[in-house]
Amino acid sequence: MRAMSEFDLHCHSSISDGTLPPAEVVRRAAANGVRLLALTDHDDVAGIAEARASAAEVGITLVAGVEISVSWRGHQVHIVGLGLDPENAELVSQLKAMRDGRFGRAQRMAEELARLGIPGALEGAARYAGGSIIGRTHFARFLVEQGIARDVKSVFDHYLGTGKPGYVPHEWASLSDTVGWIRGAGGIAVIAHPFRYKLSSNERSNLYKEFKALGGEGIEVAYGSANEQERRDAASAARRHGFLASCGSDFHGPGESMIDLGNVPPMPEDLTPVWAKLAVAAN
Ligand code: AMP
Ligand code: MN
Ligand code: MN
Ligand code: MN
Repeated sequence: MRAMSEFDLHCHSSISDGTLPPAEVVRRAAANGVRLLALTDHDDVAGIAEARASAAEVGITLVAGVEISVSWRGHQVHIVGLGLDPENAELVSQLKAMRDGRFGRAQRMAEELARLGIPGALEGAARYAGGSIIGRTHFARFLVEQGIARDVKSVFDHYLGTGKPGYVPHEWASLSDTVGWIRGAGGIAVIAHPFRYKLSSNERSNLYKEFKALGGEGIEVAYGSANEQERRDAASAARRHGFLASCGSDFHGPGESMIDLGNVPPMPEDLTPVWAKLAVAAN
């Protein structure tokens, strides 16, 4: 059993690859005891208005967020932006371009899957995407539906993970542009799930330094997929680089994520939590 937290600064709705609409994500978070929630859909801020209205109804605070996909030295890295203006014109138009780029990638992914004997994947994935951004999770749900794999995770293990037969390389945003868009919209840039990337310790430390030099301010220390050792290592990185510490479930939906909203362990008390600065921004 993990501890519950009043702070959950990373989760997804059906605007990206979560299964619940934004208002339901907020209600579920509140029911779980979360008091400060950031909605961080992939490459889209379209769920913020609905989430904000729902948060006002249930009496919790909603932080406007986003999770942006970045290509960094051959790796896909995710940067979360927190406390940003979801109507910032530059951010909105850059995210739109990213979502458009996802469509071409999805077409290529469907071609790869067809070659592997799995037809109809573009239509199938689009059905799960429901008109919002299309990504690998939607393809994974379609493959599970077709009986090709038993769950979403095994689709990634066998078909869609990096280097697997249905994997299509894609050029995402640069780290520098991403941090710039987030800061330009008044937000705080945070490195998401730092131990999900297959980086050497040297590369990892270069990522932190480069991110910091670009104006990145935070790192996730406690998150859905992090084990105890990874939380300790992320906390050390926060101390060493002077990062604000963030935490979040990375919830995608009941049944699909092991970790429910608010289900994150506490962070070491000597770290400065990112909400110390967010609170100032909210005033
Ligand atoms: P995309 O942005 O289209 O590349 O899809 C990335 C998303 O796929 C992540 O945000 C996760 O939701 C999901 N994902 C990535 N790796 C895995 C995995 N091993 N098991 C389950 N879901 C995964
Ligand atoms: Mn996702
Ligand atoms: Mn992510
Ligand atoms: Mn995420």
